[in-house]
Amino acid sequence: MDKVFAYIDRNFGRFVEELAAVCRIPSVSAQKKGLDDCARHLVGAMKEIGLDARAMPMGGADNPPLVYGRLDAPGARRTLFIYGHFDVQPPEPLDAWDTPPFEPTLKDGRMYGRGTGDNKGQFLAHLKAVEALQRSGRGVPVNLRILLDPQEEIGSPMLEAFVTSHADLFRADFGYNADGNAAEGNVPLLSFGNRGSCYVEVRVRTARRDVHSGQFGGPMPNAAWRLVEFLQTLRDASGRPAIEGFFENVLPPTEADRRALAAIPFNKEAWKKEVGVAEEAGPPGMGYFEKIMFQPTLSICGLTSGYGGPGTKTVIPSQASAKIDMRLVKNQTPPEIFEKFRAHARRRGFGDLEAVQLLTYHPSKTPLDHPMSEAVIAAVREVFGKEPLLYPVTGGSNPSYIFNEILGIPMVKVPYGNYDEANHAPNENLDLDFFRRGIKTSAKVICDLAAL
Ligand SMILES: [Zn+2]
Repeated sequence: MDKVFAYIDRNFGRFVEELAAVCRIPSVSAQKKGLDDCARHLVGAMKEIGLDARAMPMGGADNPPLVYGRLDAPGARRTLFIYGHFDVQPPEPLDAWDTPPFEPTLKDGRMYGRGTGDNKGQFLAHLKAVEALQRSGRGVPVNLRILLDPQEEIGSPMLEAFVTSHADLFRADFGYNADGNAAEGNVPLLSFGNRGSCYVEVRVRTARRDVHSGQFGGPMPNAAWRLVEFLQTLRDASGRPAIEGFFENVLPPTEADRRALAAIPFNKEAWKKEVGVAEEAGPPGMGYFEKIMFQPTLSICGLTSGYGGPGTKTVIPSQASAKIDMRLVKNQTPPEIFEKFRAHARRRGFGDLEAVQLLTYHPSKTPLDHPMSEAVIAAVREVFGKEPLLYPVTGGSNPSYIFNEILGIPMVKVPYGNYDEANHAPNENLDLDFFRRGIKTSAKVICDLAAL
């Protein structure tokens, strides 16, 4: 890799300028701004390094195109899929920025600007790795399928349908993604999966209208009570979901998962102080990270009924609703869990409640001892010069299940952002040392996967 790394070091100043050029385009998906411009720019940048690239409409006049790039390397036996996203979060509040969000500024070895870390600097690292492999004479030893998503920051609403109907464009042996930031102390980390989510709203209606709680209190059914009684059936005394069959498909952690969990540092007392809680919730005997990574949960996210304003209003509410987020782990699926949720309601005598699915994500997980996982761990260890932390799963949800679960591609994610990259926040920044190491890591991953 020496020749490739030397090329990266020699050309790094130009790579930084190219990153600034991408970050100058305000591609804000929530505000439907700059996405076409950014897609056009990236198609050009991909063609420049020898990729066959195009912007592809995702359907619906309102939706921006995704950027697709591919390379068919002569003699390659393996295909690598790379995912990134070129949309950014809105920059507001603007007066909280020290420098304008879309005028990338270099200061103390960092580039400041919206999108520098999330995700422009991270996907550009893959593209510059491809350039370095091509132009240093090493060559790209795998076929590449690259997808740059224009809507990740708003939940990629079009992506699943698009990828499912264009599956042949994305077929690959391995999948790689750089996003997020390193752990505290800038310790590199790798993540191998995500929890899924089945987010449901439950609505209760007990009468045509609200009534006076004095004049009618007694004979009048109360929607708030009915909802509370239902919610009470949803979990047991230890706080675990009490829906019949909820846990039957849950994949337990492996030995490798348990070793990784044990190596993740956690200061329980500092955490309790920081969030201001007296005690950790959840089943006794289960560790903090096991609860987040391997345990499906059922959380009440919001309750609405009756009157909650200042003073009093003597009323019996006719309607009540709750928003419920069930986070799923590997081998559970949103349709399965939603069906079990509804069957539970019927069985407990709450069949009249309306349940609506508002959001779904499948869980995803690539085994830690998969050959791809081992190759990426080794590459990160070497390029960053530190032992990385391994997160078998992260608690949140993202679209990687589309590739992992639907297309069957093992996915590994490595954040190339510094711990304090301030993604989604004012003064977002990317430490240029991380950018450089990210490019080198991508180059090494591309080469090492070819040999598997
Ligand atoms: Zn983001």
